[in-house]
Amino acid sequence: SLAGKTAVVTGSTSGIGLAIARAFAKEGCNVVINGFGDAAAIETERTKIEKEFKVKAAYEGADMSKPAEIAALIHNAEKTFGSVDILVNNAGIQFVSPVEDFPTEKWDQIIAINLSSAFHTIHAAVPGMKARKWGRIINTASAHSLIASPFKSAYVSAKHGIAGLTKTVALELATFGVTVNCISPGYVWTPLVEKQIPDTMKARNLTKEQVINDVLLTAQPTKQFVTVDQVAALAVFLASDSASQITGANISMDGGWTAA
Ligand code: NAD
Repeated sequence: SLAGKTAVVTGSTSGIGLAIARAFAKEGCNVVINGFGDAAAIETERTKIEKEFKVKAAYEGADMSKPAEIAALIHNAEKTFGSVDILVNNAGIQFVSPVEDFPTEKWDQIIAINLSSAFHTIHAAVPGMKARKWGRIINTASAHSLIASPFKSAYVSAKHGIAGLTKTVALELATFGVTVNCISPGYVWTPLVEKQIPDTMKARNLTKEQVINDVLLTAQPTKQFVTVDQVAALAVFLASDSASQITGANISMDGGWTAA
């Protein structure tokens, strides 16, 4: 059982990360939530988790583009709860633009948040996991870790990178009871998807309905969005003892997108 373990979920004030943090809390884990947003709204989510699931929930505002803050997030979690047993690297942002117009600072920011932050959390959390001979590292990758779409050069590069990092660290930790996997969702209905609609409308000269039906769900053979709770359920499974022999895997949950 996962009860009493500690789960750190980066980028968990919203969307997939929040659903994953809540799912681990439901399993009896103490959780560390992280991400940006309105302070009062975050505090409401934090206390809601504690009351609903009878666990401890801490909030850390570490910016996933700042290596020193990321290391402090892991060390604070270890100090507060005694260990980081489950690490979910989920924070991510998107930016949509033709490559020749893609702002250099946006490229650097996406590589930092969507890829390098996972290196920094792993770097800080692995010594404890190795010492305790148990750990679960789960990275939120994307269908874009396997295939590309135009105008998303930084995001696709970062997500392909996270798939490589996942495999490498899985090999390094294979004999230490620590598994490392990534989940690759297709389109999940979250603020991240909602917010990229206006830019895609501009980049491709389409209406909102055309973006949803002809760009987003066109790729997804089921013609349905993945839900955040479905992604969270897979994360919980990957942390379970039943999944102890799944490591270095990139598991798709994309309505058939990457099968096409
Ligand atoms: P979201 O925008 O709802 O949530 C992103 C979270 O990351 C938020 O909590 C936000 O505050 C946090 N965040 C952003 N920048 C940060 C920073 N610098 N430091 C700390 N936290 C930061 O998005 P989401 O759709 O839930 O995305 C979560 C993950 O899932 C991302 O890695 C994304 O690439 C991936 N993903 C999403 C989809 C999708 O369709 N929504 C599909 C595949 C993969």
